[in-house]
Amino acid sequence: MTDQMKQQYINLGISEEVLSFGEQILADLRPRFDSIDETAEFNQLKVIAAMQKAKVSEACLLGTTGYGYGDIGRETLESVYAEIFKAEDALVRPQITCGTHALTLALMSNLRPGDELLSPVGKPYDTLEEVIGIRPSKGSLAEYGITYRQVDLLPDGSFDFEGIKAAIRPQTKLVTIQRSKGYATRRTLSVESIGELISFIKGIRSDIICMVDNCYGEFVQRIEPTQVGADLVVGSLIKNPGGGLAPIGGYLAGTKECIENAAYRLTSPGLGKEVGASLGALPSLYQGLFLAPTVTAAALKGAIFAANLYEKLGFEVRPNGLEDRYDIIQAIVLRKPEALIAFCKGIQGAAPVDGFVTPEPWDMPGYDAQVIMAAGAFVSGSSIELSADGPMKEPYAVYFQGGLTFPHAKLGMLKSLQEMKDAGLVEIP
Ligand SMILES: *Cc1c(COP(=O)(O)O)cnc(C)c1O
Repeated sequence: MTDQMKQQYINLGISEEVLSFGEQILADLRPRFDSIDETAEFNQLKVIAAMQKAKVSEACLLGTTGYGYGDIGRETLESVYAEIFKAEDALVRPQITCGTHALTLALMSNLRPGDELLSPVGKPYDTLEEVIGIRPSKGSLAEYGITYRQVDLLPDGSFDFEGIKAAIRPQTKLVTIQRSKGYATRRTLSVESIGELISFIKGIRSDIICMVDNCYGEFVQRIEPTQVGADLVVGSLIKNPGGGLAPIGGYLAGTKECIENAAYRLTSPGLGKEVGASLGALPSLYQGLFLAPTVTAAALKGAIFAANLYEKLGFEVRPNGLEDRYDIIQAIVLRKPEALIAFCKGIQGAAPVDGFVTPEPWDMPGYDAQVIMAAGAFVSGSSIELSADGPMKEPYAVYFQGGLTFPHAKLGMLKSLQEMKDAGLVEIP
């Protein structure tokens, strides 16, 4: 590293010791980073080919107001998504407010009273508990007479095929498969293993709708779950596919029928996809999608760097430094409350927005312990931007993800380590 470069880091508060330890770790990661870059290249070409095939034009970036009839930009963007996911159709809208909303839409539109929903991969993401009615809530699926069953993964993380077979009943209409582990401790599923699970389910009853919660997984691999049999994939635009530029939105891609049902639920029966003004959101939805493969690669490299950095310092990291990655989330078990606070301080201190702010633990509604969060994002709450959080309770694990560029993710990790070192919480070997 040149002296000029070193000076840049020193100006940002990184000591030579922390910097050189980081460089040592990075040196061993180069071959792995090359293979991530290759995946990004593959996916970049996939996105460009899809945009060209759909004939994206300057007129597509303009947007509409009011009812939004005949919004060519909206319709073209939806065909670009359908092409990328190799699906019959897609629904991509700024009116879908977040990932939970997109998943709610998929479930509520494709299930009817008397139907049963099955999760064969254990408990779904926290916010879905109220959607399903696992925790009672107004307007849940349970209130509409839609029942729910769950089959947990086996202790070794594999699918409980026997249990799944036994759980499939005549009223089982839709199976929901969460690709990312989210903030649970299980493994994230590869697209290939999701394919195996879908084949097994379709082998029992081919008419069961197989839906995948694709949050945090888009563009991590070269194929998406719709290419291994999923009828529907669902995700958030303020995660991977928005590339950090989308200011809001969610997407669904899948069979014509699943998408039509969802469109009728999002707007209204009879209107479906025909209405929904795109306002001024389209340029960032298109450009964000264009950037998404390389942005996802940057976030992945940041996660792998952090895993190896902290593993070398003796911390338990999940996934570990060597494991293959199927999403962008990294967990580090920090063991002490002061370490969790110092880590988050470092991430915040590396942010381009609100970098001067000190994060503090607070009583977040819905949690049984205080939570500390670090985020300095251009898009509020965006978790494709570098962000970290963790509950203030044993084992004091921090979960983090994102980084629109690798240099930013790298700085964040070095800052977190610097904070921990300055607080006397780690020894650098
Ligand atoms: C983020 C996430 C969601 C919910 O998305 P929000 O945008 O936070 O509502 C659902 N499932 C998984 C796996 C997620 O990571």
